[in-house]
Amino acid sequence: MNYYLRSLKLEPLYHLNTSISYLKGVGPSRADLLKTELGIHTFGDLVNFFPNRYIDRTQFLKINQLQENTSEIQIVGKITAIKTVQQKRGSRLIATFADDTGTIELVWFRGAKWIKESLKVNISYVIFGKTNFFNRQFTMPHPEMELVSAYQKKMQISMQPVYPSTEKLTNKGVTNRVVSTMIQSLFEELKGTFKETLSSSILTKQKLIAKNEALLNIHFPKSQELLTKAQNRLKFEELFFIQLQLIRKKIVRKIKIKGFIFKKVGVNFNNFYKNKLPFDLTNAQKNVLKEIRKDIGSNAQMNRLLQGDVGSGKTIVALLTMLIALDNGYQAAFMAPTEILAIQHYNSLVELLNGMNISVKLLTGSVKAKERRILHKQLESGELNILIGTHALIEDKVKFKNLGIAIIDEQHRFGVAQRSKLWEKNKLPPHILVMTATPIPRTLAMSVYGDLDISVINELPPDRKEVKTAHRYDANRLSVFKFLKDEIAKGRQIYIVYPLINESEAMDYKDLMDGYESISREFQKPTYQISILHGKMKSADKEYEMQRFINGETQIMVATTVIEVGVNIPNASVMVIESAERFGLSQLHQLRGRVGRGAAQSFCVLMTSFKLSSDAKVRLNTMVGTSDGFKIAEVDLKLRGPGNLLGTQQSGVLDLKIADIVKDAELLKSARAIAIELLTSDPTLKAPENSLIKIAYQEVSKNSTIWSNIS
Ligand code: ADP
Ligand code: MG
Repeated sequence: MNYYLRSLKLEPLYHLNTSISYLKGVGPSRADLLKTELGIHTFGDLVNFFPNRYIDRTQFLKINQLQENTSEIQIVGKITAIKTVQQKRGSRLIATFADDTGTIELVWFRGAKWIKESLKVNISYVIFGKTNFFNRQFTMPHPEMELVSAYQKKMQISMQPVYPSTEKLTNKGVTNRVVSTMIQSLFEELKGTFKETLSSSILTKQKLIAKNEALLNIHFPKSQELLTKAQNRLKFEELFFIQLQLIRKKIVRKIKIKGFIFKKVGVNFNNFYKNKLPFDLTNAQKNVLKEIRKDIGSNAQMNRLLQGDVGSGKTIVALLTMLIALDNGYQAAFMAPTEILAIQHYNSLVELLNGMNISVKLLTGSVKAKERRILHKQLESGELNILIGTHALIEDKVKFKNLGIAIIDEQHRFGVAQRSKLWEKNKLPPHILVMTATPIPRTLAMSVYGDLDISVINELPPDRKEVKTAHRYDANRLSVFKFLKDEIAKGRQIYIVYPLINESEAMDYKDLMDGYESISREFQKPTYQISILHGKMKSADKEYEMQRFINGETQIMVATTVIEVGVNIPNASVMVIESAERFGLSQLHQLRGRVGRGAAQSFCVLMTSFKLSSDAKVRLNTMVGTSDGFKIAEVDLKLRGPGNLLGTQQSGVLDLKIADIVKDAELLKSARAIAIELLTSDPTLKAPENSLIKIAYQEVSKNSTIWSNIS
């Protein structure tokens, strides 16, 4: 539609959806650059393109105040002379710049010809940049310059915004100043009228400034104080609308997505609970079971995340939950991320369920075709009650008669797509319980799993002794070996773990083999027997080695991180981690969790070289200082940031424009609390005072990339 028609219809000439190419100073080629380099397509995108830092431009220096080590400074003065100096390649332009206290040299190495034409002599400029001191003369290469007359007209004069940029943009002349100028014309075009998105009661309660004022001050801050208020308002808004979507989604799912109703707790559960359970449940385990029972007894599908530190006893909760499904005539699936773990779950479940009339089978990649066919058949007929396995379990060929619940252990190893496959297996979705031993900091859980129900087992079974943890340098290896021999003499078993990082698998493998050799030299047969376990082994060999260790035939298990998740061997009480500086915190915590499972005092020894990065030192000190998984996760979050913490599980929730989950934790908590309060009192946002929120909500959820992390 052309301008003429548009104005006839009395529509405003520009609005937030107007293509950026219509903005003054942005032609088609710049519009293209903005799109490809910064993802800015519309006026609205540019309004919401926020600076990532600000430079204080309230300070002016006199030339005689310059010091050798000043960073970015600004000076008012005039150009008194210009000369061009020929160099080997091209020429260099030098301008003498003077105020009433002295002179400095402005230098350009590129664009000399073009710049020379634009420079005005004897007219006042504000210059801005970094200075160098050379041959007793201050120079400022490629200064930012502005006529004082233009400078005074600008909308902001104190805090200069610095926008994110790319090399390509700078090379094509779209400098920070150009971007700033574009945003200034944008504000002039739109006359600074941006719609409010929050209700006045939230604004008052949270002491937030209006949207208009916030946007103005984020781009053109009039003072540090106003800038802080603007940032606060925009961060809150960003977090609030994410929370609103997550919580609304949770509510809608509960209403809309029907699940199987497991009405009764029957003979399987009761029989097991009374006669087979080898210990009393901890209170935390009981509470979690209650939460689960409430979910699966309602008519909504359960989507619950169970967090519990390593060794807190999640497996038994999983088993009891599956028994309820069986009691109600449904099948259950239990999925683990590695074959070793699947086998272990299988063995321990078979043992626990011994004497009960329940059929349990194992399905992994190494199950033979013939066996597999039988299994498929039993699964479809309903003869098979519980299927345990790896991701082989979600292959299309695997069909259940009536899958009632799927339990996913150590979920951080599973991709989202893999999980949703389980969902497709039924007409009605099975209940889903995801268990993780990687504690997720509360703020992160609120964002990434904000639409799920979360249970926490926050208590370890009684009589667990804390694993004593020490950091030792490679140079002290001999005393570590001595210690290991003493422990073995007491009847204990030992893990020695080598890092495995995919990029250099060959090298890691060599590390492992070298390590194995040196340990074999130190711990010789027949006194000592050693098992070895790594990813390149056939699964039958893996299982054989594992079994030897479990049976106590070997005292030492040399392994890569294949043993990281879930392995449970109570008599193993010492964990030695080689090159511990190469492991991340959550991995170290997981590995340490392999010991401390029996009655004996357990130990973890972190071996490193002397050369340690500062992050590695923090990691090691954290491990030595605490065994609380949640505390460790908080440190990890600070070190690595939320994106890395969750690996590939990126989601729209973490793509934040202005807020920061770590730094703005308090704001996030209040945004969530207010979102819950709002949706509780006005679930469809129909109250007149919430009309602005409703409009904004519809807008954001249209473009939202937020999806559920489980189903
Ligand atoms: P994780 O939560 O890491 O999966 P597991 O389920 O493997 O932990 O349990 C760790 C160990 O603790 C197992 O040997 C298990 O039998 C034992 N355990 C679980 N719950 C209790 C309890 N309430 N009392 C005593 N031991 C328990
Ligand atoms: Mg486990």
